Amino acid sequence: MSDCIFCSIIKGEIPCTKVYEDDKIFSFLDIVPVNKGHTLVIPKEHKETILDLSEDSFRGLMAAVQKIAKAVIKAVGAKGFNVHINNGEVAGQVVKHAHIHIIPRFDGDGLQLWKGGKYKGMEAEQIKKDIVNFL
Ligand code: 5GP
Ligand code: ZN
Repeated sequence: MSDCIFCSIIKGEIPCTKVYEDDKIFSFLDIVPVNKGHTLVIPKEHKETILDLSEDSFRGLMAAVQKIAKAVIKAVGAKGFNVHINNGEVAGQVVKHAHIHIIPRFDGDGLQLWKGGKYKGMEAEQIKKDIVNFL
């Protein structure tokens, strides 16, 4: 049994409700769905967050998310969907194997997105400069 629960799922050591698999990608229903059809898409290679993936692997992962999301929303009759990624414990990542949530959305499903704040003075301009410096 692997130390990583998602690696164990990929290997078939832990059962899951698989919806898709190819040589690089694995996808299955979340065991605690936020809404019906809540699906996880993961790379087969064990990497902690999306920042640890190569650009090629990330592109492949996102292409799979697009393909699977189209099927998920048709299957459950969703009106829209959220694509959500938790990176790091502080961001709510519990399973330390990079994964992308596809969360189908329905009218009146009660899910709420985050509340926005405000920048003060030149804060936004400074943050922009810092970001641009790191690009
Ligand atoms: P995170 O908070 O790390 O982004 O989300 C991890 C997700 O994995 C959670 O939504 C949780 O319900 C799901 N999960 C954790 N363990 C299992 C499992 O054994 N099987 C399945 N199908 N999903 C799991
Ligand atoms: Zn893993």
